[in-house]
This record gives sequence, C-alpha cells and structure tokens, in this order.
Amino acid sequence: MALPAPDSAALLAWYDRHARRLPWRVPPEDRAVGVLPDPYRIWLSEVMLQQTTVAAVKSYFEAFTARWPRLEDLAAASRDDVMKAWAGLGYYSRARNLKACAEAVAALPGGRFPDTEEGLRALPGIGAYTAAAVAAIAFDRRAVVVDGNVERVISRLHAVETPLPAAKPEIRALADALTPDERPGDFAQAVMDLGATICTPKRPACGLCPVQASCAARAMGLQETFPRKAPKKDRPTRFGTVFAAVRPDGALLLRRRGDKGLLGGMTELPGTDWTEAPAADPLAAAPLAAAWTPVSGLVEHTFTHFHLKLSVVRATSDAPAPDGCWWSAPGDIAGEALPTVMKKAVEAAIPGSTRRR
Ligand code: SF4
Repeated sequence: MALPAPDSAALLAWYDRHARRLPWRVPPEDRAVGVLPDPYRIWLSEVMLQQTTVAAVKSYFEAFTARWPRLEDLAAASRDDVMKAWAGLGYYSRARNLKACAEAVAALPGGRFPDTEEGLRALPGIGAYTAAAVAAIAFDRRAVVVDGNVERVISRLHAVETPLPAAKPEIRALADALTPDERPGDFAQAVMDLGATICTPKRPACGLCPVQASCAARAMGLQETFPRKAPKKDRPTRFGTVFAAVRPDGALLLRRRGDKGLLGGMTELPGTDWTEAPAADPLAAAPLAAAWTPVSGLVEHTFTHFHLKLSVVRATSDAPAPDGCWWSAPGDIAGEALPTVMKKAVEAAIPGSTRRR
C-alpha cells in the first residue's frame, strides 16, 4: 500500500505544541508574534552542538553568554580565556575558530552576521551545516539543515537503504523536498526535536509521531534498523606517557600544545608523542630530571580516530619551569584549558585538583 507523503505542516503543528525549551531558542509562540532570535546565540549554540549533546552544551552556553553576552564581547576576549572556558567540550579547533569567527564578524561593516548561507560559509569555522542552520534558524532563510537527528528521521520516513555516509546526498535531497518555504527555521528545529525526543535511535515512540502515517520504516516494522550504517572500522590504539611534576607547594607543571592538530592550543601535562607502540624509553621525554614514579592504572580516552592509553608518572620537584612550561598554582589548575583526557591524567596524579571550588 502506498503511504501518503510526509507533511511539513504536520511537523510544524507538532513543533508548536512540543518544541524543546532551549536557552538559545525563541519558542514558536514568541516567534509567531515577531520575536527574532539573536544570530550570535544561534551561531554559538550550533558550534557548541557539533558532536556534542544538548545536555552537555547547556551549561557551557550559559557560562559563555553570561561572560560574553554579545558577539563584540567574545571578539574582544583573550584567546586563552576562550580556550579555558571551552575546556571539556572537546573538538578544540571549534574554540579557536569560534574566536576567529567572532573577530571576523565584528570587523564586518555593522559588525553583524551575514544573513545568507553563502555569506556565512565565508566565515572561519562555518561549514555547510552551520551555515544552513544559522541561515534557517536565525534569519528564516530557506535552507536544508541536516544533522544526525534529521538524518535518522528522514532515513526512516523513506526507508533509505543506502548506508551512511554514502546516503548523505540522498537524505539531503529528501530533506530538501520536505522543507517548506514558510517557517523554514522552525521546520529545521521541528525535525531536530522530533529526532531528539520521539524518533530516537532506540525504541522510537512512533505512536506519538506526527508523521507516523507516512513512515516507510514503521510500515515495515524496522524503525530501529535505519539509518543503515557501513560497518565501523576498528579504532587503533595509541600509547603515551605524561609527566606530572608537582612542586612542594602543590603547583603543577603544565605546557601548551601547538596550535595545529588534535587538541591544538590546549593545555597539557608534558609527555611523549602518542605512538602505535609504547615508547621504549619514555623517561627521555621527561621535562626535568626527577625521581619519576608511575601512578597506578592507565588513563584511557577515545578520540574519533583512535583510542589512547596514557601512563602517568609523577615526581616532586622545585626546579624552574623549563622553556614552554609553567607552574600552575593549586588554585589555578581547575581553570586551566585542560581537555578531558588531560583532566583525567591530572586527576590520576593529584586527585581532586581539577574540580572547581
Ligand atoms: Fe521515526 Fe517512528 Fe515517526 Fe517513523 S513513525 S519518523 S520511525 S518516530
């Protein structure tokens, strides 16, 4: 039996009743009476949400907007402060690009975000997805916004057999066909919300879904098997050693990573490179001569492309900080721009030191 085509009006009507309340969002009832979203807040939330959940982003978003309420405040902030405020959110190139983008927009005539996808794409760190999301949500431009939630909803509605990532162009074309000319921003948020709250990866609540009658996956009883996915490649494991040098007053020796590459510009414990096999003589990479002793247990962390096993060694020293390093006082350690993997390593060496008091 042929199914009726999915209807964007049904999705918008559902969104009007069930839109999630999010700190960056203008709810549909306010939008209906002419309240416009702040492009700065939409852009900031979209950058933060890439690869990160709404639950994890909320507190960061609130801290950023309390400290830098306007774009020009963020543009004028020190890069170090931005990196510190970002610490723990992951994918740190986003923080560097965030600052660069704020500066670029502040330097534009009028200091405002461009209101088209094309104009937005020209800014640092804004890719196709973010440009479409900001154009649609902040400026109500008709743009096709496809994040992971939207991919799941569309692939189920149409029972797309092609596995991801090869299915992306097909899913985008189907999302394009469903996107209305009226209220494209609310429509984009409606599909995102449906994916986040009803059309969930496991056990979707199809009985509550506003487009259930049009859903090919539901008609087959195979909802959870979409989107199809290509088998994952095994993640390789890398190994490294980090050195926690602690001064008698509790200060910790830290350094800053180079700007390029993984965790670029973030703060770390000095250590070896991360290699496919454990280093034969890791102590050769020690930042200073001391009686290094291993801290028990490995610190493990999974990045997108590899799994990392870090050995942590510790020593007491009151030597001057070597070039490129600094002693961070006990009360300052929690505020350093330590990415999650380094927080784990510092915690292994000095329990409780990375918790903000
Ligand atoms: Fe998702 Fe179920 Fe709705 Fe289909 S009917 S779109 S599987 S929630």
